Amino acid sequence: MGKKNKQFVEKITAMEDDFAQWYTDVVKQAELVDYGQVRGTMIIKPYGYAIWENIKDELDRMFKETGHTNVAFPLFIPESLLQKEKDHVEGFAPEVAWVTHGGDEELTERIAVRPTSEVLFCDYYSNNIHSYRDLPKLYNQWSNVVRWEKTTRPFLRSSEFHWQEGHTAHATDEEATEETNRMLGIYAKLVEEYLAIPVLKGKKTDKEKFAGAEFTLTIEALMHDGKALQSATSHHFGSGFAEAFDITYLDENGESQFVHQTSWGLSTRIMGALIMVHGDNRGLVVPPKVAPTQAMIVPIAQHKEGVLDKAYALRDKLAKVARVDIDGSDKMPGWKFNEYEMKGIPVRVEMGPKDIEKEQVVLVRRDTGEKEFVALADVEERLAALLDEVQANLYNRALEHREEMTHTAKNMDEFKTEIEKGGFVKAMWCGDVACEEKIKEETTATSRCIPFEPESVSDTCVCCGKQAKELVYWAKAY
Ligand SMILES: [Zn+2]
Repeated sequence: MGKKNKQFVEKITAMEDDFAQWYTDVVKQAELVDYGQVRGTMIIKPYGYAIWENIKDELDRMFKETGHTNVAFPLFIPESLLQKEKDHVEGFAPEVAWVTHGGDEELTERIAVRPTSEVLFCDYYSNNIHSYRDLPKLYNQWSNVVRWEKTTRPFLRSSEFHWQEGHTAHATDEEATEETNRMLGIYAKLVEEYLAIPVLKGKKTDKEKFAGAEFTLTIEALMHDGKALQSATSHHFGSGFAEAFDITYLDENGESQFVHQTSWGLSTRIMGALIMVHGDNRGLVVPPKVAPTQAMIVPIAQHKEGVLDKAYALRDKLAKVARVDIDGSDKMPGWKFNEYEMKGIPVRVEMGPKDIEKEQVVLVRRDTGEKEFVALADVEERLAALLDEVQANLYNRALEHREEMTHTAKNMDEFKTEIEKGGFVKAMWCGDVACEEKIKEETTATSRCIPFEPESVSDTCVCCGKQAKELVYWAKAY
């Protein structure tokens, strides 16, 4: 059996040898994704989709708790509509996929496949908001969008991806600001508490903000290889879109006012973060709260009388405290161990004739590999507690990693040294886009965010040496 196990593990490249290849191997071996027929598209397989669904369900619940409702807007946008907001169209134009024909007939106007749906919502709002009584509008849609990407990787950058996009309209700028903050808070809660990924919360610089936004808030996470990943964003539009699309309402005094809007999104990209934050050389590690199967029962010597019956009885018992499954197939236990480690199932439960005799089971946690014997009478309680421990450990481990990988720099020499170590570099910035561009050109690092809690490491800009305005977290990013 030992030999077989080894063979199985050899199917994935060690992350220290080639992180990109490790990622591709895990995505494939854990059966998350297959490649689609059109370059850059992906088939999300049942296991991958089950994880995404758990994320989605949780987020959807939080949206509804905060008063949002779901809608479904069209996939298509007429070109004239997409062009209404200048910054917005410029930002997305290079990635838009166009429909030019309907059957054999050439269309009189090109139709964009939505890269995002701001203009559709704006058009709708301009026709459906009349009075202050119609506000706020708190809409969200779960959808797929298309962005014609040049280089693609499953989950991280794909030509078509799944996400949710929230689009809201408010009477005042303050309300829109509140909403922008509230939604970023929801994303941070989801990613930290459910995905066990610590995030930096902050504001994007103008260069990195969403096309057409007044400002963009972001949560940034650090991957195992030291690169950052923007995990979700929340945008404040002010009244920019409202002016371009003429979205007005009559206030309490009968005066016409522009609405103030927001939009916010989280996509299947977060699956990439889950893989790259928690995964290891044995495969995926899924945090218990989003794991489709939290504990997998593997019967040992199941051909012996009574073993399978006891194992199924154990499943029924544990199903009361966790999402439990059992593999009663005739595959070797060693194969099963590897398979469920590859899939990142948080806890493995072993039960064989000896355990049955001693009225115990064996629990093995995926994150540390630690094994414990638990009395059958205590197993429900212990499994529930162990899942919490795994969840907490994954978060703490990721936080520790981020802290170890966060450096500071006061000048460009330091910056160049620190950024090569991987991780975040905290450095002061004068606010000039020229410095931001220079840093990117010389190091490939980009500004990730200006943290909400102001920090300072010196008085002068890391790049030009002039008076600094604020501290920025920089990193090489996905
Ligand atoms: Zn500067």
